[in-house]
Amino acid sequence: MRLDEYRRKREFKKTPEPIGEEGSEAGNRFIVHKHQASHLHYDFRLEMEGVLKSWAVPKGVPVEPGVRRLAVQVEDHPIEYIDFAGTIPEGEYGAGTVEIWDKGNFEISKKTSDQLEFTLKGEKLSGDYVLIHTDKNNWLLLKRKIKEK
Ligand code: MN
Repeated sequence: MRLDEYRRKREFKKTPEPIGEEGSEAGNRFIVHKHQASHLHYDFRLEMEGVLKSWAVPKGVPVEPGVRRLAVQVEDHPIEYIDFAGTIPEGEYGAGTVEIWDKGNFEISKKTSDQLEFTLKGEKLSGDYVLIHTDKNNWLLLKRKIKEK
């Protein structure tokens, strides 16, 4: 059911993207797709609740602390999408190239209805991050400064 919107937007005879199924609740992987669609953006996805919770980040996930980026929540994607890279044909939803920009694991330290705090361990991204819900589908994604010890 959570994948209804994902499936409704796509024509699986035409796109190489997976139809997918809802997975198990467990899992702690993240991925960032670089998506050269009509506008270049980065899709940040966290494996949660049997799907990939997904945000489109126009300017990319911050690598440096103190940088805030708009992250627009988009439809949940199937877990299988974590391995997806390829070209979505012209005329299809999200047409353009999708490549894996970074991947790794994450660990949640705090979760409320409008805030998610987590640590990323990837190749390009590592450290403490926060997603803060602002309004509608809009969130702010920021990297925390390293705490003084
Ligand atoms: Mn995208």
